[in-house]
Amino acid sequence: MPVNGLGPYDDQNIFARILRGEIPCKRVAEDEFALAFHDIAPQAPVHVLVIPKGRYVSLADFTAKASDAEIAGFFRAVGRIAKELDLETQGYRLIANMGPHSNQEVPHFHVHLMGGRDLGRMLVA
Ligand code: AMP
Repeated sequence: MPVNGLGPYDDQNIFARILRGEIPCKRVAEDEFALAFHDIAPQAPVHVLVIPKGRYVSLADFTAKASDAEIAGFFRAVGRIAKELDLETQGYRLIANMGPHSNQEVPHFHVHLMGGRDLGRMLVA
């Protein structure tokens, strides 16, 4: 069910529960600013979600409210994880969904890091 992406932040959303350790995840990497784990319904050979540790609903919410250190730390983590997953040579795609037109499901800001095959053109539907 798509969410509106506008908040307020819901502390019961599934990624908040993963961050609190209430729900397991297949962890790829973690540091002070970001947690990365495999998507439960992968749409590519590599489909990893990277989420900031703070309570942010969307990219706009994150970039408006997070500290410079959180923003830099998060995006540095995304780049580092792409490299660690060996996606740099063949390439990858980043997706951040926001709101109904994007079909955002989880109201905690995240990026999808996808690769491992030719992903085709941007949009297929
Ligand atoms: P979005 O539509 O951008 O909000 O994407 C949410 C993503 O979270 C979807 O690709 C789901 O497959 C994924 N997802 C939902 N629940 C879990 C979970 N428990 N562990 C890992 N990924 C999940």
